[in-house]
Amino acid sequence: MSGNNTVNVAIRIRPLVKTETERGCKLAVERAADGSPQVIANRSETFKFNYVFDSSDTQQDIYEACVMPRLKQLLAGFNLTILAYGQTGSGKTYTMGTTFNGALDENTGVIPRAVHDIFEETASMSTDFDFTVKCSFVELYQEQFYDLLSSQGRKESTVDIREDKSGIYMPGLTEVVVNSGQEVTDQLMRGSSGRAVASTAMNEQSSRSHAIFTVSLVAVGKGEKKSVTTSKFTLVDLAGSERCEKTQAIGDRFKEGVNINKGLLALGNVINVLASNPNGYVSFRQSKLTRRLQESLGGNSITLMIACVSPADYNISETLSTLRYADRAL
Ligand code: ADP
Ligand code: MG
Repeated sequence: MSGNNTVNVAIRIRPLVKTETERGCKLAVERAADGSPQVIANRSETFKFNYVFDSSDTQQDIYEACVMPRLKQLLAGFNLTILAYGQTGSGKTYTMGTTFNGALDENTGVIPRAVHDIFEETASMSTDFDFTVKCSFVELYQEQFYDLLSSQGRKESTVDIREDKSGIYMPGLTEVVVNSGQEVTDQLMRGSSGRAVASTAMNEQSSRSHAIFTVSLVAVGKGEKKSVTTSKFTLVDLAGSERCEKTQAIGDRFKEGVNINKGLLALGNVINVLASNPNGYVSFRQSKLTRRLQESLGGNSITLMIACVSPADYNISETLSTLRYADRAL
């Protein structure tokens, strides 16, 4: 597998949340004082990334700095992939906007902002191109895919992943044709309400599954040549990266932890190879997560990983593990 893919990494340090201030947590992670994209953990260990955001950065700041500038490339035919990585409660879902509540405001995350702008852009290109935009939404839970846009019950909504000469596909996966940003976010809301959530000691709303939202675009030129450009915008709200023991995981929870880590481990390996040696051999077959993301990470893809961390001293070992994982992607 070879290509011109690029991997960029952003770190987002969220503010202390109420439960952290209540238990007297101190700040243990900060951005370099000179504003350069470096993270300083425990006042001693320094990590450098492409972007570092902290509690002074808004949803709009993050969107404008690292997502909006890449939409032009998406519309020019590149695949664009955004991965949100981090322990449960670090801000992945908030950053991605996966559980959109229906109104664009200052708390709105990346996905609703991006799809809104994509439709503005396709409208402005409509004299030269006919666009078809579709979206799909799958959840990967315990190595099983679920079709979150299926009109059937959860048990019937399982989907498989297959591969043939033309690539990776999921037979029977629901793909909804959408004509506006609003129609996309309607699907996002519909799908995220069906996502499996199980409470753990760490975070009641913690999500133990990977959520993969895909917007695919086909642009057909209106000139005589009828050029066809296809691209995929893939947004992944990854499962919590925490080690099992901290969540007091037992039984099924423990099994979830093992499967989740298998995907995250394989993803880390794949991104590490793509980043360090774009022409090197990449094994996407190690997990269902990497198989599903194969065409979104390899080939002509632009990948942004947003690694989310808590600033609290209480979480420092998880934060260091996230920073090290993200560091391997560079
Ligand atoms: P995760 O998806 O990683 O488990 P969430 O996105 O659910 O984490 O965030 C956990 C909590 O922290 C939520 O209540 C969320 O609103 C809050 N939060 C996360 N990031 C921020 C931020 N940058 N600013 C303000 N609140 C945040
Ligand atoms: Mg979440």
